[in-house]
Amino acid sequence: MSTGFRAGAASDVGVVRSENQDNLLATPGLWLVADGMGGHRGGEVASLVAAEVVASAVADLGPDRLDEAVRRANAAVIDRALGDLDLSGMGTTLTALALVPASDGSADSLVLVNVGDSRTYRLPAGSSTLEQLTLDHSLVGEWEREGRITAEQAATHPHRNVITRALGVDEEVEVDRWELTPSVGERYLLCSDGLTNELDDEAIAAVLVAAIDPQTAAEELVARANAAGGRDNVTVVVVEVVHADLPADVEALSAAPPMVTSREDATVHAGAPDPTAAGAAAIPASSAPAQRSRFTWRVAVFLVALGAIVGLTAAAVGYWARGTYFVGVATDGGGEVVVFQGRPGGFLWFQPTTVEPTGLEAADLPAVERQRVEDGHVEATLDDARRFVANLESRVTSTATTSTTVVPTTTPTTTSSTSTTVTTAATDPALPPTAVTPGA
Ligand code: MN
Repeated sequence: MSTGFRAGAASDVGVVRSENQDNLLATPGLWLVADGMGGHRGGEVASLVAAEVVASAVADLGPDRLDEAVRRANAAVIDRALGDLDLSGMGTTLTALALVPASDGSADSLVLVNVGDSRTYRLPAGSSTLEQLTLDHSLVGEWEREGRITAEQAATHPHRNVITRALGVDEEVEVDRWELTPSVGERYLLCSDGLTNELDDEAIAAVLVAAIDPQTAAEELVARANAAGGRDNVTVVVVEVVHADLPADVEALSAAPPMVTSREDATVHAGAPDPTAAGAAAIPASSAPAQRSRFTWRVAVFLVALGAIVGLTAAAVGYWARGTYFVGVATDGGGEVVVFQGRPGGFLWFQPTTVEPTGLEAADLPAVERQRVEDGHVEATLDDARRFVANLESRVTSTATTSTTVVPTTTPTTTSSTSTTVTTAATDPALPPTAVTPGA
């Protein structure tokens, strides 16, 4: 039988570093994370060259020869370094997963490869325990396998960044290779050490279990690594095995082209598979008709969602523009204070409309209040606007008898500004209690 896949990906420079030397691939049937090293631009170039060469070599050789594709990438990184002094000494880790589609009488399978200390994990369907599939080619990883240190010691060891295998170092590179059988519901995680040095397996598993889709999981993992310190570039690719014939509506809504990235300043998304992209050869031939029938589904879901978004936006704008009242000066030039519905000055095509006159003349108001009315004093409801007008009326009367009236200048239309108003009143004993207008 053939299986379907949904993937999500994210990469971030982290909190401490200034360049992102990680790269990733999230194309249909080929997923990869590479963590470059080497001063200057070296690391960034090494991981990018490796990702590009693996992608083209898989298209050329077929996904079941993913390990040979990695050896080509090794040669390409070495060649590139020889041609540019700035790049000498550069190298990169690489872990990649490729779909080998079912041929007659067989099932889909996955080929996994690894060189270095980036990792690939599997989270089985219904499980909350991560299985690390790759072995770390690092000093502490080897010590741990030899029983010389514990996993806990390895996780915090000062030499944990020393790797013992990488692309770009030797003409001959040993590539670890596994074959796996995908099963629906399981999730695979490919990641650079910027994730695993910040989060332990339990924390990673919790995100993978809880996230509703692979893209959400990828973004959440990067965010948590950054929150935990973000001391290195962090890159993750999350691949979920799904039924081949399910409508992929989530993909339709978050569609983005698959990409290789070396951007240091942005989180990179790789959403729905794009059948025209490199790696398309890895899409199982048996799923092609299902893909076509799914297309109309996706378009329909997308159009419905788009229509809903446009409608809701228009409704929200209308509500915002018309949902309030303000006390201002009549637009007929007569100087009367009136209550309007809408926003002072209008908003887009929504112009304020007169709700009721007040009988007050702006010219009769004390200077501070006249200014507020001329600017348009916003209230959340008609009742609030009427209370403000009643307050204005008392102010006209009180200015005739006292000369010490102080009026708060904050606009009590929100919770936060209401508390500001109360503070103003509390620090000013001369303020009449009626001047504190409750907010909406
Ligand atoms: Mn790293």
